[in-house]
Amino acid sequence: MSKILIVEDNEDNWQILSRRLRRRGYDVVVARNGKQGMDMAKTEKPDLILMDMNLPLVDGWEATRLLKKSNKTRHVPVVALTAHAMSGDRDKCIEAGCDDYHTKPVELTRLLEQIEALLAKRVEDLRAAQRAATGPAPSGEAQPTA
Ligand code: MN
Repeated sequence: MSKILIVEDNEDNWQILSRRLRRRGYDVVVARNGKQGMDMAKTEKPDLILMDMNLPLVDGWEATRLLKKSNKTRHVPVVALTAHAMSGDRDKCIEAGCDDYHTKPVELTRLLEQIEALLAKRVEDLRAAQRAATGPAPSGEAQPTA
């Protein structure tokens, strides 16, 4: 079961979103501010983070920037959740290190597609990392035998 960390200060938002995601079979944990979000990204080891951008203590931009700087958390995909519909906002999210971007109010079908695409990509990345760690495939450098 994939674990999703929701970082969201608005109680209505995280209540609804966590209920919907649990119903889809996800394990869900919630952080209520950016500081707690960064802590839980390390302790809970989520497979993906849904990050509200407007957060108390540490905002979503800064939290994402810091998570992407840390070796412990940089590999965890982050989807930015923002109410800002301004042009240039997507670029700002990607610049901060977010892997994808979703404008609130949440459109569940679309968000689930984004989540599933990133989780699938993460599985591929992990496999690639494992292959790299175990060295080149035997066929890569093997000399042909007579
Ligand atoms: Mn907020």
